[in-house]
Parts: sequence; structure tokens; C-alpha cells
Amino acid sequence: MTGDCYSCRQEDALAAASFAERLHVTDFWRTAHAFNSSLPGWLVVLPRRHVSSVAELTPAEAAELGPLLHQLSTALHETVRCTKTYVMQFAEAEGFGHVHFHLVPRMPDLPSEHRGPRIFHYLTRPESEWLTSERRVEIATAIAERLRTE
Ligand SMILES: [Zn+2]
Repeated sequence: MTGDCYSCRQEDALAAASFAERLHVTDFWRTAHAFNSSLPGWLVVLPRRHVSSVAELTPAEAAELGPLLHQLSTALHETVRCTKTYVMQFAEAEGFGHVHFHLVPRMPDLPSEHRGPRIFHYLTRPESEWLTSERRVEIATAIAERLRTE
């Protein structure tokens, strides 16, 4: 089952992965910068084992999630200067059924037509508009540094 899972394949190859794929890794959770985002700071927070429903998380995994989303949100405020963060979890796309929380900076100048769930505009742009891998690593590094100084 996990062979078809993008997130599990990433987890299996973590040591060789870009820093943007593993900017913060704990026993239970991995945080990545979304590879297909045109919005700087779009983070994805995933359990390190295959889980297809939030209800399948262990108590220990669940206990770490709240503080983690808080820490990452604080780091996003300080690095990309968002006014708040959005948190979303669907795991519906083909090959992406592994639970993953989208943690997205809501920028002060976000156009009204892209607010709320319409923020996914920035995750559905053509590849030519995605952030470069260099830029993703740069943002990932800035966020990781913020987490370390907390
Ligand atoms: Zn998986």
C-alpha cells in the first residue's frame, strides 16, 4: 500500500532528500515545504508512518501535533511575515492519501479572491510558477533556524 504513497516514498529516502523535504523532523512528524507551491512558506506536516485518517494517530502522535503547528506558525510569522496561518487536511488526491496538514501563511496582501479554501490557487499553478528548489531550501532553512532559537 505504501509503495503507492508519495509521502512514504519521501520518508524512505529522507537522508538523501532536499532540506526542503525535511526542515523539521521529530519522532512522529516531518515538516516539508510544499514542492508544488507558488506561495513562499507553504508547509506540509506529515506523520512519519502511513496513516490515512487523523483518527488513526496514536495519542503520542496527536499530542505532538498541536505544539508543532503552533511552533511552525510562529516561525512562519517571523520569517515570511504572515498575519496568520491556515491549517487544512484532506488527503484526497490520488497517491496523496497519507495524512498531511497544510500549514499556509496568510499574507497581509493576499487578494480577497484567494482567501480561505481558495488559497489552493497557489498549489495548482503550472510548474513554471512553482518556487525553485533553491528558494524552498532558503525558506526551509530560515524556518528551521527560528525553531532552533525558540
Ligand atoms: Zn504513506
